[in-house]
Amino acid sequence: MPELPEVEVVRRGLVSWVRGRTITSVDVLDPRSLRRHALGPEDFAGNLEGARVLDVVRRGKFLWMPLADTPGDPAPHNQAPHNPAPAVALMAHLGMSGQLLMQDARVPDEKHLKVRLRLSAAGDMPEQLRFVDQRIFGGLFLTSLIPTDDGGPGGLAETPLPLIAEEASHIARDPLDPHFSFDAFYRRLRARKTGLKRALLDQGLVSGIGNIYADEALWKAQLHYARPTDTLRRAEALRVLDAARDVMTDALAAGGTSFDSLYVNVNGASGYFERSLNAYGREGLPCRRCAAAGRVSPLLREQFMNRSSYTCPVCQPRPRNGRW
Ligand SMILES: [Zn+2]
Repeated sequence: MPELPEVEVVRRGLVSWVRGRTITSVDVLDPRSLRRHALGPEDFAGNLEGARVLDVVRRGKFLWMPLADTPGDPAPHNQAPHNPAPAVALMAHLGMSGQLLMQDARVPDEKHLKVRLRLSAAGDMPEQLRFVDQRIFGGLFLTSLIPTDDGGPGGLAETPLPLIAEEASHIARDPLDPHFSFDAFYRRLRARKTGLKRALLDQGLVSGIGNIYADEALWKAQLHYARPTDTLRRAEALRVLDAARDVMTDALAAGGTSFDSLYVNVNGASGYFERSLNAYGREGLPCRRCAAAGRVSPLLREQFMNRSSYTCPVCQPRPRNGRW
């Protein structure tokens, strides 16, 4: 499952290839990848053909491309042509194995190619945006853009607009979003009365933190996953949020360096994970912070919300008797 940094790598790569280009034709090779588009493949293709891609926007793990009106639409009689705000976006849901690839027309179709968008010519840039998905959990669909509830930008974008894809409108801003409000987050976190990790995974409170980054952030902040959020001090909440931002920024930097300019790609876990994880997947291995202090403390793995949580029993002690 791609995490936020991988989706941001896709966004940054994709935007330089598609922004300002017009979709000239659409091939739907497997309608299962359009199952979230309720009106079906013909409606999908009909709406996209002739539309111009304005930008690539991301909030949390949601990624969308706002589309401009069809350039062929005549301006209303006696009115100057205008540039209305975009109302529709192409949403890309990457699922477990979805990939967005920019390919030259000469490159043979990938085995799991599902949807092909042909784009207007732009210098030497490849003509095709391909959606490839081996396991078919991902997909493409069209969605409405609606005003954001705080009037701020919908997400990270090259030219931010105060609009958000309807499907993403229920999720909070993510820690990499410059408009993320720590004060609002802390207020709502205290009011949740739940365990800290459960709160970090709650997309309505803060988006884009998956299981791996939650464990890494908690380890870095030296907080236990079951810590009741209504006992959390402001400095502790700030510590865990800063930690989440740090591990995501590091992963983003690593993903950015291995990025092939012709190949916008998401493959789930990147090489970063094996090299840099301090908690996730390290059951029984010594805690690196404890080791640096001369202690041997093997990490624990515990069941948590049908997944696993990895913690150091020494530097992330479990809450006891509600005392902090
Ligand atoms: Zn430790």
